[in-house]
Amino acid sequence: MSDLLFFPVSMPDEMLHSRVTRYHYLSGNRTAAETYHDLFASKPFSIGGIVPQQIEKLAGRLPGQLESNLAELISNNTTFPAYRPFLGVRQGPEDHSGSHAFDGVVRIPRREESIHGKAKLCPTCVQEDLIDCGSAYWHRSHHIPGVSVCWRHGDSLIHACPKCSHPFYRKLKLLPNLTEPCACGWNPLNAKTTHKGSDLEKKVALFAHDILQRKLPPIGSAVLSSCYVRQCKKRGFVFGNNAGIAKLFDSIQSAY
Ligand SMILES: [Zn+2]
Ligand SMILES: [Zn+2]
Repeated sequence: MSDLLFFPVSMPDEMLHSRVTRYHYLSGNRTAAETYHDLFASKPFSIGGIVPQQIEKLAGRLPGQLESNLAELISNNTTFPAYRPFLGVRQGPEDHSGSHAFDGVVRIPRREESIHGKAKLCPTCVQEDLIDCGSAYWHRSHHIPGVSVCWRHGDSLIHACPKCSHPFYRKLKLLPNLTEPCACGWNPLNAKTTHKGSDLEKKVALFAHDILQRKLPPIGSAVLSSCYVRQCKKRGFVFGNNAGIAKLFDSIQSAY
């Protein structure tokens, strides 16, 4: 039986780690260990990766059904929806009963899981969110690999305090409270934008945000590959011969 009294409602595009952190401050818990115990019945662990470990424990402690809670947490508070269309579909008989929300979680490539280790923010988002949503929080769209600027503002994302370089993400810790200044005095609430990203960086960020919002279902590998081939042909790369493939990769590398 769950003894969880509340869990803060998700903000738009909020990371699970951020919701857990907001729970911590709203609950009045004194230590992170108490918060991990409340939400996961566990000792502190690193809440990272595409689908954070122990997410199903939290789903089981929220009111309602575990399955639908888990589906909602995964599709609203993780970066998994950006990967789901590309992970293939389950082999064997089609299952039409459940939701597609966590279909494919088991097929997440391990190397993608291990690149986590940063918490990134856009100071302008922090300031606007506090006014618009009444809460400053951490966005999942800022945490897609390859995204280096904010899709909304085009500002470069930062992963450490710009004054004392203390990283925002620390293993086994909750995230910093964004309405409080860093120990050195730097405060995201009155930070000015220091660096704007390029147009290409903004395009990548917009694409990542868009794909998260669309909640695309898993797509079969035959459909994906014919789509890639069509796009390659459209862009003038002759698919199926080595020179064409080399040219394609050269062009991707020089663009990004
Ligand atoms: Zn922003
Ligand atoms: Zn600092």
